Amino acid sequence: MQIIILGNGGALNDGLPYNAFIIDSRFLVETPPDIMQSLYREQVPLSGITHIYISHFHGDHFFGFPFLALRLFYDTMRGAVSPRIKIIGPEHIREKTAELCRLGVGEEHPLHGWMHETMDFIETAENKNIDIGNNIRITLFPMDHMIATWGFTAYQNGRALLSYFADTLWNDALLQQIRLHPKIIIADMNGEPSDPIQVHLSEEDIVTRALPFCGEETVFYGTHLKQQKQSAHLKIHYVVPGEVVEIA
Ligand SMILES: [Zn+2]
Ligand SMILES: [Zn+2]
Repeated sequence: MQIIILGNGGALNDGLPYNAFIIDSRFLVETPPDIMQSLYREQVPLSGITHIYISHFHGDHFFGFPFLALRLFYDTMRGAVSPRIKIIGPEHIREKTAELCRLGVGEEHPLHGWMHETMDFIETAENKNIDIGNNIRITLFPMDHMIATWGFTAYQNGRALLSYFADTLWNDALLQQIRLHPKIIIADMNGEPSDPIQVHLSEEDIVTRALPFCGEETVFYGTHLKQQKQSAHLKIHYVVPGEVVEIA
């Protein structure tokens, strides 16, 4: 499994590309406002995208969707062959994407009809399993955030390789995923000790509450940052845009 980090910034950040990554150049996770810049900067072919995962409807995870959809629509009209794309997201994902695209391009645009015909929408639900091809399946679990938000664990040939903790506070339910000993956990680690209100995981949460249960193998890959940071801890790594992670 190959992961390309497309961006590592949270909603409020000092100019980082917004958080997103893609698995095996097919399974795109999050469509932040600058998703097109990030996909082009990292030279990810749009025609290879088969799935788009939206963890929740906050703008730093979702508001780039109309521009990606518009580009896929025009590429298809010009004869590029794209697979039928599955959009995975919280309840009402079909209606929310339609609403956002109507705001983005206007009510009458042919994009809407094209999306209706060529995209499949899958709503997230607890413990739901979704086959994403290449012998990879994901299982979903809820985050502890202001609105409905979902993380996933990706299994290849039955083995947990990657977990994604999207925007969340620490919750002991996360230990269920940690105990699967995935090779890496890409996690919202936006939290800082100086935050007036805790909204995100912090390095301290990971060190005190997660790492004791991780075993030797798991490394946390922090994303959704305010600014680029580095950790002195061997089991914590803050991702950098353009970074390529291979897991087997
Ligand atoms: Zn966010
Ligand atoms: Zn959020």
